[in-house]
Amino acid sequence: MLKRYPWTEATRLACHMEVLRRKPMLQRVFREFHEVLLHLDRRYFGDTPGARVELGSGVAPARDVIPDVWVSDVVWAPHLDLVADAHTLGRSRNAVLTESLARREACTRCGFCLYGCGYQAIYNAALELEDLRRHPALTYVPGQWAEHLDVGPKGPQLTTLDRRTGERHAWTAPVILLACGTLATTRLVLGALGWLDRPVRLLSQPSMGFALWLPGCLARPYPNRFFGLAQLSFVATSRAEKERPIMAGNLFLACAVPLWELTSRLPVPPVWGYRLLRDLVPSLLLGNALFSAAFSDHTVTLGQDGKLRVRGRYRPELFRCLRQVVRVLRRGFRRCGAWLLPGSVRLVTPGADVHYAGTLPHRRFPGPAETDVMGAVAGLEGVYVVDASVLPSLPAKAHTFTVMANAHRIAMAVYQRYHRA
Ligand SMILES: Cc1cc2nc3c(=O)[nH]c(=O)nc-3n(C[C@H](O)[C@H](O)[C@H](O)COP(=O)(O)OP(=O)(O)OC[C@H]3O[C@@H](n4cnc5c(N)ncnc54)[C@H](O)[C@@H]3O)c2cc1C
Ligand code: SF4
Repeated sequence: MLKRYPWTEATRLACHMEVLRRKPMLQRVFREFHEVLLHLDRRYFGDTPGARVELGSGVAPARDVIPDVWVSDVVWAPHLDLVADAHTLGRSRNAVLTESLARREACTRCGFCLYGCGYQAIYNAALELEDLRRHPALTYVPGQWAEHLDVGPKGPQLTTLDRRTGERHAWTAPVILLACGTLATTRLVLGALGWLDRPVRLLSQPSMGFALWLPGCLARPYPNRFFGLAQLSFVATSRAEKERPIMAGNLFLACAVPLWELTSRLPVPPVWGYRLLRDLVPSLLLGNALFSAAFSDHTVTLGQDGKLRVRGRYRPELFRCLRQVVRVLRRGFRRCGAWLLPGSVRLVTPGADVHYAGTLPHRRFPGPAETDVMGAVAGLEGVYVVDASVLPSLPAKAHTFTVMANAHRIAMAVYQRYHRA
């Protein structure tokens, strides 16, 4: 048999499979073992949402007993769903409840994640508001649109427009923390600095989308229950970049996106697209990937008329990197048993990633239109910025958790500084 199967990692499974086929007792042992796994899974995980992945399935995958499990090994074989090495498998970072928490319900695997979670299982900062409003130190004034920022003898002053009544209010305080999002905060700060008609750099991450086909999942039925956010993530590194990630991405089940939306992306009439995708979708994965914002070349400029103008384009180096990344992905996913579908790779238009940042970057020694490491704007006493504007760079990864942690860091430091004073 070893003559027929020259001993390589790739042929090892085929060889073992032939051995197993001739040993009914061994097959029964595996079956019993999988039944124990199923029993333990039901007992300890119950209805816990998420995919079940069997690591190291070898030639006796647990799928025979646990039908919805994804079976994997460190080398590819046709009976496997994916190649997964427990040391390199990347879990996506999702802030989603698996158990109810106060008013929020646990995930029910309804699959609507990309369109808003009706159960509030996905974290949303707005969910904190109700508790915050009970804090005696907080006065919540909703519907205020920050229009104008100034720094006078009494400290910073923010003029807001009440969107319901159209009235303007001027708010003065020793400290104002701005968190209107990169573009709105930048407009306020550049206006207060009188930084007009002079462009400042805007960062955003070029991103691309693609589709993967898993032939091993072709005959799978549509899942009744599933989780629609990414569960697997990946990075591509480059030797030229000293093995630093040049791109990071996530994989989503294609059934998380409605069929009409998928068919609208195909270069065929919708009826054909529908027929084509209807049976394929359970075996499709959708991927997105973010590149470093160093490949973007955008600016924002506040004009004399008070309007913020955004100009953007990609740096030419991006396209060389994109080709390199597509090659890496095609090879890497192929080893995992997935095919990168030809024609599915799309680079989004500049800015469509909506990851805007870096206009008022943290600097140790901040100059004009920059902030110090605590977010204080140089030249505007008492004005702090806590949103994505202050990020000095945007590497190839999602940045919102970093923005949240940084805002928390600055707010705590400012509180302690002024509380002590
Ligand atoms: C569809 C979509 C998907 C995304 N997915 C991801 C993801 O998977 N991972 C990730 O890391 N990031 C993601 N992002 C990006 C992420 O949402 C932003 O980077 C992040 O929210 C930025 O935080 P921020 O505090 O700077 O601004 P924001 O979250 O935009 O907060 C600014 C707030 O200020 C309000 N505001 C604006 N102007 C004014 C004004 N003049 N006066 C008063 N209030 C004002 C806005 O209404 C908003 O509530 C996604 C963005 C979009 C649009
Ligand atoms: S699958 Fe998504 S939308 Fe549905 S409950 Fe879970 S987190 Fe919410």
